[in-house]
Amino acid sequence: MRYKNSLLSVIIPVHNESANLVWHHKRIVQAMEKIGQSSEIIYVDDGSTDDSRDILKELIKTSTNTRLIALSRNFGKEAATSAGLKKCNGDAALMIDADGQHPIEAVGKFLDKWHEGYQVVIGIRKSNTKEGIVKHYGSKLFYQLLSSMADGKTIPNSTDFRLLDRRVIDEFNKLTEHNRITRGLIDWLGFRSTTIDFDSPARHSGTASYSFTKLVKLALYSFVSQSTKPLQFVGFLGGLTVILSAIIGIFLLIEKYTLGDPMNLAVTGSALLALFVSFLVGLVLICQWLLALYIESIHSETQNRPLYVVDEEL
Ligand code: UDP
Ligand code: MG
Repeated sequence: MRYKNSLLSVIIPVHNESANLVWHHKRIVQAMEKIGQSSEIIYVDDGSTDDSRDILKELIKTSTNTRLIALSRNFGKEAATSAGLKKCNGDAALMIDADGQHPIEAVGKFLDKWHEGYQVVIGIRKSNTKEGIVKHYGSKLFYQLLSSMADGKTIPNSTDFRLLDRRVIDEFNKLTEHNRITRGLIDWLGFRSTTIDFDSPARHSGTASYSFTKLVKLALYSFVSQSTKPLQFVGFLGGLTVILSAIIGIFLLIEKYTLGDPMNLAVTGSALLALFVSFLVGLVLICQWLLALYIESIHSETQNRPLYVVDEEL
């Protein structure tokens, strides 16, 4: 079988995970041995301020096929993952968190799907035992909004726990945009993809590096990088305001000045003024929408995504 001698790259972004690393590494090595998969394990130390880097240096000494890429400072998980994908040599790559929230035991299922011919296998989180209410409903709302806005498809609760075929890794590495959400880019790339459900346990140790504000920022960047629909919304709002205030304005003017107020509305001058102001605001919004169209085209030029991605040529 073509996959028998395959190499799997396991890519692990690390930010202040000192209490998890040794425990987690053992689990990965055991899981690989159990299914007889040859692998390389790549840690990307994303500017940890605890002793994560020292622990990793010790780990790579005692463990074969393990590599460390240490970034010069904290660049964020998305950048760290990209660094790992750039440097990996595997026929496929499995991206996995260092805190135990992505059960490595599921690797067999990922590989099975890969062997079936899927090029992207996406882990779908089924439960998150210790997730706060805000995070739970926040992420639900986020996915609903994003899937209604984004051009590609987004699957609710899809995570970064993913397996990518070499074809996908190569295409991913060609992407140049800076504000990147790994998941979004992979979804955008397309290819044959499938999902696997997994239960997400609580962190093995420590607290999540992503604070609430960092998460909100990430969500906003997701919208901006995945969709320009928010820009279009401004135009819609402006058009609606102009049309509505024009209709009401004309109706009131005729009713009051031409017909002499037969409906006894007694519209005041300030009411008419308010209507005129909202008409003007609508005009301003439409002008902003015109600007937005230009920004949108600049936006897509600077993202510099390829026009298309070739799957195969026969
Ligand atoms: N991480 C990282 N850089 C960061 C924040 C997090 O490399 O700036 C890593 C972290 O070590 C972990 C993974 O990304 O392996 C997920 O992070 P975390 O558990 O904090 O986030 P959550 O579980 O809330 O997605
Ligand atoms: Mg986590």
